[in-house]
Amino acid sequence: MKQAQPWPLHPAPKEGEALSSWLNRVAICYQMDMPDLVEHDLGHGQVDDLDAAPPLSLLMALSQRSGIELDRLRCMSFAGWVPWLLDSLDDRLPAALETYAFQFSVLLPRRSRKTRSITSWRAWLPSQSIHRACPICLNDPASQAVLLAWKLPLMLSCPLHGCWLESYWGVPGRFLGWQNTDAAPRTASDAIAAMDRRTWHALTMGYVDLPRRRIHAGLWFRLLRTLLDELNTPLSQCGAYAGSIRYVWERCGHPLRAGQSLWRPYEILDPAVQLQMLEAAATVVDLIESKMLSPRGEQAELFLPEPQTEFTNGLPPDRRKKEPINYWQEAAKAIDEAIVEARHNPETARSLFAVASFGRRDPDSLERLRVTFAKEGIPPEFLSHYEPDGPFACLRQNDGLSDKF
Ligand SMILES: [Zn+2]
Repeated sequence: MKQAQPWPLHPAPKEGEALSSWLNRVAICYQMDMPDLVEHDLGHGQVDDLDAAPPLSLLMALSQRSGIELDRLRCMSFAGWVPWLLDSLDDRLPAALETYAFQFSVLLPRRSRKTRSITSWRAWLPSQSIHRACPICLNDPASQAVLLAWKLPLMLSCPLHGCWLESYWGVPGRFLGWQNTDAAPRTASDAIAAMDRRTWHALTMGYVDLPRRRIHAGLWFRLLRTLLDELNTPLSQCGAYAGSIRYVWERCGHPLRAGQSLWRPYEILDPAVQLQMLEAAATVVDLIESKMLSPRGEQAELFLPEPQTEFTNGLPPDRRKKEPINYWQEAAKAIDEAIVEARHNPETARSLFAVASFGRRDPDSLERLRVTFAKEGIPPEFLSHYEPDGPFACLRQNDGLSDKF
């Protein structure tokens, strides 16, 4: 194959940009249409799946032209997101949906969901193409990149600007119109922005930090997809948990199951329905994390902070109590308990004597203490080997504990 000449200039791909978007921006540099650039400059006729699985020969030509590594170019298409975002681009894999969306559970107990099986399915890839983008991004002439993730029903907001993605028509950089013509950018809710930040982090960093622990991006996408299916579970199958589903939909202000009556996989739902489902998923996570909803799924605990254990924050439990503690009262109680034990345990008797006697050096004082111990019922022979210069002899100051005796 002929070695392609490097392009004298070309814009650098933006993080997460779709291959088609970047090629369009390259074509604009040379006042060409993108299909012409692909066909005449790169020698590839009609390529339908630029953003899904571009041919390797095209990627190699692009790498030679741009000097950009092959791997980076590949990650600008969905093929580069296998197996993190989806298990395969092949839609004929057996049990694909079960494996992806039914092995985990978040909101509902795993057993309460009927496992679905369909013959042809791929995670996230919509049945009709999506044209949604951030109005702030696309209205900035210096940054008219369409992100690959925006072509999926995966995010509701722009990870950079926190505003809703809006439907557009046309080709960014050439002619562009917004469906909602006079719409100023709409700020996404905190719940939506939080969900989309995590998704963006998964796509760009390969992991997500959840309250419980850091999880792999692959798990994040499967949890999200699981949640979307749980929210679309017919209430008749939810048993005692139907109330949770109903509550979530009420909270986000959309009809139950976004108006669905028959179950269909998320990917083939109407785009407007998908958006409502995503909004409900963001609502669920927010409700779980703010403890407004008790999830029943096996993976739900990932969204809850680690439970406080005895030494979680480095302090013994008593030090974390809100009420002030009477340490002397606590100490006296401990001594009373120690006296009870010292009546039959020589070791405890000697330890107790050591505590009680420190600061006392003269024989008379020690003898009086022995008498006190005997009166408390502690056998004197338990103390017969006690050395006053024992482990506590280095402590010079009487802390008042021995006044107890
Ligand atoms: Zn933006």
